[in-house]
Amino acid sequence: MKTTKLNNGLAMPQLGLGVYKAANGQETINAIHWAIDADYRHVDTARIYNNEEAVGDALRSATIPRSDIWLTTKIWNDDIRAGRTTAALHEALKRLKTDYIDLLLLHWPVTGSVAAWQELEKAVGAGKVRAIGLSNFMPEHLREILEAAEIMPAVNQIEYHPYLVQSDTVNECDANGIAITAWSPLIQGKFLEEPLFAQIAERYGKTPAQVVLRWCIQNDIIVIPKSTNQQRIHENGQLFDFELEEADMVAIDELERGERVGPDPYDFDF
Ligand code: NAD
Repeated sequence: MKTTKLNNGLAMPQLGLGVYKAANGQETINAIHWAIDADYRHVDTARIYNNEEAVGDALRSATIPRSDIWLTTKIWNDDIRAGRTTAALHEALKRLKTDYIDLLLLHWPVTGSVAAWQELEKAVGAGKVRAIGLSNFMPEHLREILEAAEIMPAVNQIEYHPYLVQSDTVNECDANGIAITAWSPLIQGKFLEEPLFAQIAERYGKTPAQVVLRWCIQNDIIVIPKSTNQQRIHENGQLFDFELEEADMVAIDELERGERVGPDPYDFDF
């Protein structure tokens, strides 16, 4: 599995399995085991997905050790607002049945994020977390954290796909050595019928989903496509045996139209 070197020196696998909306039971367990069989070494969950218990069960019963998997989870907004990030981390560790998280993110830029960031920094010092980062932090939100931070965020996880590249945020992160993870990299499966993806896919003997994910990887973006279907999990993992030519990268770049499939970090309320 190819990795991205984070600003704290850790190597984060460029492909992970996203488990948003996967049921807290056999569905999540199977998906993670299939992903491991397909060489994924990274799982992305969150408190709000209500499946951390199943993620923990899957890691416990996996054919490879826990230390071979990069585990990301996120602190939910209510816990950030309530100033209980450390307590929420301990609860997550219990649900995940592990004694450390590889990457812990603040899920959204809500009131209390700066204080929550300081709690994350303490969790690194306590050895409970290997890397800390943000999710859905736009340049203004990011600057607030950077002003107070003693540890730089390692990652910002944002909506990113051919229809939405959020250049301002990506550039701000690049300038600060913060890696980007794309959420909804497959545009939630909604636009894979885009003719360009099929045309390019045919030429490389690949699928539209593989082309879109490969485009992200070649833009130095970590991807966490979601699927609970064994065949699709395998398909989404076959990204490192081909390379898109520059002209195809540019053609996909030109699809950008500022279109979100998820909430706008400047205008949300949850
Ligand atoms: P996605 O873009 O990964 O799309 C997933 C959907 O695409 C699947 O449900 C399926 O319908 C379809 N699909 C998957 N593989 C396919 C294939 N090979 N061919 C055709 N269709 C396919 O969307 P997502 O789940 O929203 O995002 C991925 C992950 O990102 C989530 O599971 C979660 O871990 C994370 N996420 C984070 C945030 C955040 O705020 N930080 C928000 C949303 C999602």
